[in-house]
Amino acid sequence: MNKLKSAIPTLFAAVLLLLSNGLNAQVLAGAIPPRTLDPNAGLSAILLGTGVPIPNPARATACTAIIAGARVFLVDTGRNCIVPLNQAGIRDLTGIFFTHYHSDHFIGIGEILLNFAIAGNAAAIPVRGPTGAKEVMAGIAATYKLDLDYRLAHHGDKFSAAVMEPIVTEHTPGVIFEEQGLKVTMFNVCHQPIEPAVGYRFEYQGQSIVVSGDTKVCAEFAEGARDADLLISEVENAQIFNAAITLARNSNNLRQVAMIEEGMDYHAESLALARLAQEVGVKKLALTHLFPSIPPTDQAEAQFIQGMSDFYKGPILVGRDGMEVAP
Ligand SMILES: [Zn+2]
Ligand SMILES: [Zn+2]
Repeated sequence: MNKLKSAIPTLFAAVLLLLSNGLNAQVLAGAIPPRTLDPNAGLSAILLGTGVPIPNPARATACTAIIAGARVFLVDTGRNCIVPLNQAGIRDLTGIFFTHYHSDHFIGIGEILLNFAIAGNAAAIPVRGPTGAKEVMAGIAATYKLDLDYRLAHHGDKFSAAVMEPIVTEHTPGVIFEEQGLKVTMFNVCHQPIEPAVGYRFEYQGQSIVVSGDTKVCAEFAEGARDADLLISEVENAQIFNAAITLARNSNNLRQVAMIEEGMDYHAESLALARLAQEVGVKKLALTHLFPSIPPTDQAEAQFIQGMSDFYKGPILVGRDGMEVAP
């Protein structure tokens, strides 16, 4: 206790020193200022989660922000994506779209909703996705039920129950959203045996951004991506995996060999993706959901996209969490 008492003036002095050095309370609390959104701006994206389930401290899992003027939407809400979302200064969302229900694409939604409710947001964010959205969101609501009860008892209606239990709509492919000049089209992709699995095309002010969701390269994905100004696609590097398979096979880990091969089977192989992007006239390609989950270094990224420019002549961006991309 005495030790604690004597530490307090020291801490206070340290805070004063920091304040006198020009740091404000917001910085001390680790808070990022909210992003200023220009209502007249066009379409852009922020890659918030570029990883896969394999833990990587530099990458949250699937989560992409699409910005249309002053509105921000998320495609998927993967593990830990509240952190890059917060770092990007995004404090509110107009909608959330799910591509499919592998957990690396939705498991972060509870933390996003919780943080928005703690921040005092009152309005529910509409959640949309293919069949399965209601089941997933009912499970999230059940998981957070005790937490919600505690917070309502503690904070009363300052804490919004509506934020924690959003309105969920399930859609079939087609135009699923059209408001104030923004059109969002859902299309089927090929992530078998996972069904449904979809991608999304956002069109606004004459530009288009397509988010692939999880898919291998196939005709449906190609049609969905056709003529996109920006394609944000999942990707796998088969060469790196082949080396991993050889290692696993040499150590006789046949279960792991089979699991890697099955994983490779329903994702977009990098060279096939490059060919697709060229064939359907994609103007710019941004890679996310990097499989395997490489570190965010220039060297690893160069190795990851090796050979792609032989097939695709447009710009290729290797995603990192927080990277901003415009068409
Ligand atoms: Zn998946
Ligand atoms: Zn995935």
